[in-house]
Amino acid sequence: MNLIEVMARFPDQESCLEHLERVRWHSGVICPHCESSHIGPKNETQDIGEYGRIGRYNCYDCKASFKVTQGTVFQGTKIELQKWFLAIALILNAKKSLSSYQLSRDLNLTQKTAWFILCRIRAEMANKTSSTLLKGIVEADETYLGGKPRKENKKADREPAPRGRGTSKTAVIGAVERGGQVVAEVAKGLTGRDILEFIRRVVNVRESELMTDEYHAYNALSSQMKHEVIHHQEQYVAGEKHTNTIEGFWSLLKRAWYGNHHHYSTGYTPLYVAERCYVYNNRHRETIFWKFL
Ligand SMILES: [Zn+2]
Repeated sequence: MNLIEVMARFPDQESCLEHLERVRWHSGVICPHCESSHIGPKNETQDIGEYGRIGRYNCYDCKASFKVTQGTVFQGTKIELQKWFLAIALILNAKKSLSSYQLSRDLNLTQKTAWFILCRIRAEMANKTSSTLLKGIVEADETYLGGKPRKENKKADREPAPRGRGTSKTAVIGAVERGGQVVAEVAKGLTGRDILEFIRRVVNVRESELMTDEYHAYNALSSQMKHEVIHHQEQYVAGEKHTNTIEGFWSLLKRAWYGNHHHYSTGYTPLYVAERCYVYNNRHRETIFWKFL
């Protein structure tokens, strides 16, 4: 969905509400508190807000009042749903991610509101991460966001990053199934134990062959699974043996980061990484906008 399509399909608040109600309650309104279907509109004549119908319902059983947006990314929002839908389309279509400044200009919002919307949507993307284990040929690697990466000094860059206030770099660890999904996250650390914990959590170790570079912390994996090491001092690609896929993902991640987010605090990095994983993992899915909604 591009912006024109979103505007045409969702011209107003009512069309957005209707869509959300249809996908959430395809066989009738259900109370999100007690799951009762004994529901009535609270007061039809008063149920009109700034943007049209508010869509509030009343549960006859538990007496709660609720809207279709309850418990969703849109909960409690005072912003028109159309703007939310447009923001979702913008994020999903952005090759290099999106800054809150860009979003505020695109949708005529304050930067603070745009920031809030981006955080909500990214948190939801982090929630929707698939729990299927990676398998087959899996490449693992790690990188840093936040500082200026120095290629010729990669070893020094791998020393544990200082943590907390004033930290300029955040370590990110990732694994990608060739031709499949990526899992990447801010690393707790990059010791052998940290890496082993990550790989065991995201990779099906019995049915995979792991490709990494020669960083010593990956040695612990060799006793656990098939493990090929690429010696980058000697060569970058030897037939099937390479880590080009994960490195390609890192360059997407970094391009977007240095384009938009270099001035943000490191506390924001996990949501940003989750967004880029979500977009990458749905790169072939034409219906991703609908799936997200
Ligand atoms: Zn109820």
